[in-house]
Amino acid sequence: MIYLNGEWMPIEQAKIPVLDRGFIFGDGVYEVIPSYSGHPFRLREHLVRLQSSLSAVRISNPFSPDRWEQLVRETVARNPWEDQGVYLQVTRGVAPRDHAFPKGVQPTVFMMSNPLVTPPQSLREQGVAAVSVPDNRWLRCDIKSVSLLANCLLRQAAVDAGAVESVLLRDGFLTEGSASNIFLAKNGVIITPPKSNFILPGITYDVVIELARANGLPLEIRQVSEAELRAADELWLTSSTKEVLPISTLDGKPVGHGDKAGRPGPLAARMNQLYQEYKRTVMRAPAKVQESVAK
Ligand code: PLP
Repeated sequence: MIYLNGEWMPIEQAKIPVLDRGFIFGDGVYEVIPSYSGHPFRLREHLVRLQSSLSAVRISNPFSPDRWEQLVRETVARNPWEDQGVYLQVTRGVAPRDHAFPKGVQPTVFMMSNPLVTPPQSLREQGVAAVSVPDNRWLRCDIKSVSLLANCLLRQAAVDAGAVESVLLRDGFLTEGSASNIFLAKNGVIITPPKSNFILPGITYDVVIELARANGLPLEIRQVSEAELRAADELWLTSSTKEVLPISTLDGKPVGHGDKAGRPGPLAARMNQLYQEYKRTVMRAPAKVQESVAK
């Protein structure tokens, strides 16, 4: 069951006018919120990021956070899967095609849910292949925009190379993945680029940083050069659907050194374990408590 502009219906019945600016211009923003056993994960944080995206593209938020929370919970309740990925999208609405914003138009609100299939433990122990690709996206990668053509092309570059994710480099520095944030470990220190207009401020990225701090793991948030990326002891990606997923090869070369090269290392394994434990805590905790658990 999906939600479209105030109504619930089976997805097959959902229709939007061809002049929706989401269709014509990619003029809209979105969120993907994981829900485990009926508990939306970090819901308030996702709604804060939604507000930032909406403000950045100057679409007024159609709902209060409480109303959004209600709708996300209802989407989960109306769909059958134990774990779900709730997708919500707000576009500027329907108007005659003109780049300038239309006046007095209601945003289109669409919500759906999919079964959430997170990587199995075997894959987390094995790691995945990634390739490096020049980051040729626009300069507002902090906005979770539905205009994802560049991300689609970058992700397909990974798929074409038989890999799972592309690791993006802009002007010789690591930015993020095509649909994930990237962490590395070097000499026992976890390193990740800072939030800026070059990366999406990932909700999972925040959780990993909080967990590293709460557990006394050395952490540096700073720019990462291409040379450092290639010399990393460990690499992993984070996202709401992939969680914490080690990268075992980059451009066909094993990540890491010596006899451990190409196999996920201890910090990725520890972070995975902390993340899975945190998730279990969240599943037991009422929504309001979730926000403070890792802080
Ligand atoms: N960066 C990009 C470009 C993404 O598309 C995503 C998620 O889809 C992320 C990072 C990770 O964000 P989150 O942890 O909130 O899923």
